[in-house]
Amino acid sequence: MLDATTALPTTALPNASGEVGEPDCLRSAITARRSRRSRTRHALTTWFALLAFLVALGAAADRSEARLSTGTVFGPVAHNPADALDDTIIDDQFYDRATHCVKQPTKGALALVKWLPTISPRGINWGINRCEMWGKKSASLHAEGRAIDWHLDVHNSADKAEAERVIRVLLAPDANGNPHALARRLGVQGLIWNCQAWWGGQSLVRYSVCNGKNGRLNAKVDDTTAHRNHIHLELNKAGAKLQTSWWTRRAATTKTKARPTPTPAPAVIDPVDADDSQVADDDGINPDGGATVR
Ligand SMILES: [Zn+2]
Repeated sequence: MLDATTALPTTALPNASGEVGEPDCLRSAITARRSRRSRTRHALTTWFALLAFLVALGAAADRSEARLSTGTVFGPVAHNPADALDDTIIDDQFYDRATHCVKQPTKGALALVKWLPTISPRGINWGINRCEMWGKKSASLHAEGRAIDWHLDVHNSADKAEAERVIRVLLAPDANGNPHALARRLGVQGLIWNCQAWWGGQSLVRYSVCNGKNGRLNAKVDDTTAHRNHIHLELNKAGAKLQTSWWTRRAATTKTKARPTPTPAPAVIDPVDADDSQVADDDGINPDGGATVR
């Protein structure tokens, strides 16, 4: 029998039924060769399809987790903590400049440091207060105890990913489409990370300290100045006083939970009414969410 790789005669021969064609052994060889080619084509097609799928998957992942850069506009994120308050009017966005030094951190800054590990377990508090005056009535937000330096290192890939995730969560719109929802609810008025900053605008902007006169990145700026080893997070005055909706809701919920539950009379108790969730639903929260920004 001819091997499938054997060169076939060019002259067609009559087969057993008298039809002109290839002899049986030759047909078997041709069939075997065609079958092998078909399997090879199929395998190649499958591999190309798989490769195309993986490339498309990678591209999609890149789009959703694209590197933060100047001009990044923030889209929705899954499990946005701000969505828990979507029945409450969201706080307006305010920027309050610092003018003087205080000795104690604000309540809002302390509360934010306590809560931040919820969304940033790798982060470390590098401090709040630092009396740094820039002019007669101009100071760093640290001077008023309204800024936090949250250590995450851009040179550590896990830290970098976490920092970018934190920023995306803070500045994402909520389920109602409110931009920068969590930042507004917390009272976060600005942040700096990796030579980029956000001051309440639509997107990230260049952190000018990192750039030379020609506008290009200055490679000599050290990691701390460039905020490559920490995120600088600052609160407006309402956030610092725990008066934004995130904090007023938490305070109301905590107060409700701390309230002793009266013992219901056995004759009238309803299993549903006895559920804790009923107490939480009737927590007396201002439907306007106590959005007490100035
Ligand atoms: Zn700072």
